[in-house]
Amino acid sequence: MRVAIAGGGLAGLSCAKYLVDAGHTPIVLESRDVLGGLVAAWKDEDGDWYETGLHAFFGAYPNMLQLMGELDILDRLQWKEHALIFNQPEKPETYSYFSVPDIPAPFHIVASILKNNDMLTWEQKIRFAIGLWPGVLRGQKYVEDMDKYSLREWLERQGVGERVTSDIFIAAAKALTFINPEDVSATIILTALNKFLQQRYGSKIAFLDGAPPERLCQPIVDHILANGGQVHLKKPLKQILLNEDKTVRGFLVRGLDGAPDEVITADRYVSALPVDVMKVLMPQPWKELPFFQKLEGLEGVPVINLHLWFDRKLTDIDHLLFSRSDLLSVYADMSNTCKTYADPDRSMLEIVLAPAKDWIDQSDEAIIAATLKELERLFPHHLTGEDPAKLRKYKVVKTPRSTYLASPGRQAYRPSQETPIDNFYLSAAYTMQQYLGSMEGAILSGKLTAQAITNAPVTTAPEPPRLVTTP
Ligand SMILES: Cc1cc2nc3c(=O)[nH]c(=O)nc-3n(C[C@H](O)[C@H](O)[C@H](O)COP(=O)(O)OP(=O)(O)OC[C@H]3O[C@@H](n4cnc5c(N)ncnc54)[C@H](O)[C@@H]3O)c2cc1C
Repeated sequence: MRVAIAGGGLAGLSCAKYLVDAGHTPIVLESRDVLGGLVAAWKDEDGDWYETGLHAFFGAYPNMLQLMGELDILDRLQWKEHALIFNQPEKPETYSYFSVPDIPAPFHIVASILKNNDMLTWEQKIRFAIGLWPGVLRGQKYVEDMDKYSLREWLERQGVGERVTSDIFIAAAKALTFINPEDVSATIILTALNKFLQQRYGSKIAFLDGAPPERLCQPIVDHILANGGQVHLKKPLKQILLNEDKTVRGFLVRGLDGAPDEVITADRYVSALPVDVMKVLMPQPWKELPFFQKLEGLEGVPVINLHLWFDRKLTDIDHLLFSRSDLLSVYADMSNTCKTYADPDRSMLEIVLAPAKDWIDQSDEAIIAATLKELERLFPHHLTGEDPAKLRKYKVVKTPRSTYLASPGRQAYRPSQETPIDNFYLSAAYTMQQYLGSMEGAILSGKLTAQAITNAPVTTAPEPPRLVTTP
């Protein structure tokens, strides 16, 4: 079967990979000159990489790990010490560790909370643990039902104190969804927490050893090409052409650089586009169908990814850090965490700025000035005083509409991969799958779409085995 797939992000590539594995011929049509979508990256004039997003991989990503295992590239993940690390704004340049011991789940997470004395008092720890328990004991149905509450509302109902919300959950909500606890659905954070609580290595974090288009997307493309599939760059879907019965007749692809438009025909068609693009390209006759009307309830959330190259080392921590700053979310010194970006003498901080709603339209200069102000509070010894570290250069990557905005009530709007149109499917992290708006969600959605097309039984990967910490 020929399957035309619009969108060369992780969902589109994963869908194509599992289709060639099942003996079919996918044709991936990506609008840009780079693959990866939200994991896309570019080289600057000095040959340094900059990315759409700082990406952390988790032990609780079975489908990503399975796919990387199938491509024999698992060694490209650099596993870090099993811990979540928070900045302590009131004690600059000190860090609070939730170190997770290598003991069975869920005791590993409970122990990591009990052992942390910097951020939580004993009363807070107990209220925190009791508050979280229903999410664990009552299963995914309970977690899904909590989509009616914001995280803040849910924490209040559970009696988890304001201090825990402000110290831990603001950072968690910003890191996972780029919005604050009062704006994010409780389901999102409970889903992530449950995976961490239920899986021994679920919260273990890895970084890819280089830029995702080269180190993750390219091996998927190589596999697709080697097995008879096609992947085309600079092929933007312009229009979904329909037959009288509303099924798809072809994908009209816009011709670039003076080339004429062309029609690509296939046996099946997949949109692996961002939800905002899919809404724009929605054919008029489909707008009457409740299935497609639901997409109106979804939209991408703004986020900004920053890269700051300094003239010296600011930290030697080789891990993801939760900044606990108003403006910034998670960050990492990529000169420590990522082999391709390694520099023994100079730091490159990659930082997610979130929530970004009030910043997305501001100039790069204004964004960097505000970021440096916040960094002065995190690294006063290095960034203030007589001989502060100098910023050598920076890159700001703005994504006005990234993953879907995970506000309360969104679960009801997330569509299945199968649609009411016989020969048309959806694939993307925003479609319904249990891993939310993440790389794992994108990979799983692509796999589910391929399984729906080939009528294969739906299988998701089991929990991965013990993960190796990179020395
Ligand atoms: C700043 C940031 C940090 C993140 N951090 C993490 C993290 O730490 N861990 C994690 O798991 N996830 C993270 N994510 C989320 C993760 O990157 C996404 O969930 C995932 O990559 C989405 O993949 P996708 O294929 O569903 O969509 P996309 O990546 O959006 O792919 C859609 C593709 O469609 C293409 N396209 C658009 N229009 C057209 C058209 N007309 N024709 C053809 N193609 C078109 C786009 O160019 C793109 O390649 C982060 C995202 C961002 C932005």
